[in-house]
Amino acid sequence: MFETDLARIKELARQKEKRNWAFRTHLKGCDIKPGKIDAIVRRLHAEVSSKIDCRTCGNCCRELSAALEAPDIKRMAKAEHLTPAEFEQKYLDKTDEPGKFVVRQKPCPFLSGNVCRHYDIRPKSCAEFPFLHKRDFTTRSIMVLWNLPLCPIVYNVYEFLKQEVRHIELLRRVARGDI
Ligand code: SF4
Ligand code: SF4
Repeated sequence: MFETDLARIKELARQKEKRNWAFRTHLKGCDIKPGKIDAIVRRLHAEVSSKIDCRTCGNCCRELSAALEAPDIKRMAKAEHLTPAEFEQKYLDKTDEPGKFVVRQKPCPFLSGNVCRHYDIRPKSCAEFPFLHKRDFTTRSIMVLWNLPLCPIVYNVYEFLKQEVRHIELLRRVARGDI
């Protein structure tokens, strides 16, 4: 069932935690090629995202720390009428990776209601979250499971992915004459 209620997703994710981790292990060892899994996830991501308006949610902006690099800082600083150095001092913490910063405060100070005040120029990592369009889903699936309890897109994509993989494996068993 398609789920968008944040509290219910959090609770369902808790209830399904063991099964979801077991599915991740299954996915890494199954005989469906990683490229095919990526293609399924990309399609599911497009389908699910078309039904969820992030501008009515904003939960990742409340629960996670946005990551910024120099071009993001330049744009965001200009929008805040600050120099990049002033912006960094006011809002950011350095990370261990050179040139990478995270927003110090949670929820993010640029969140207004459920929408980023600088939505059209938001940092690249914010625009790309939850990264389900990227390659190598199976090797990045730990991050996916971390994000699942807080993001309706991730939660629903993972639910549909479980169904599709079960269906593919059932058809393969039938084709082999195993059942
Ligand atoms: S910068 Fe904008 S999009 Fe990114 S976390 Fe903050 S409010 Fe959300
Ligand atoms: S990416 Fe997920 S958590 Fe973030 S606003 Fe969109 S649906 Fe909500």
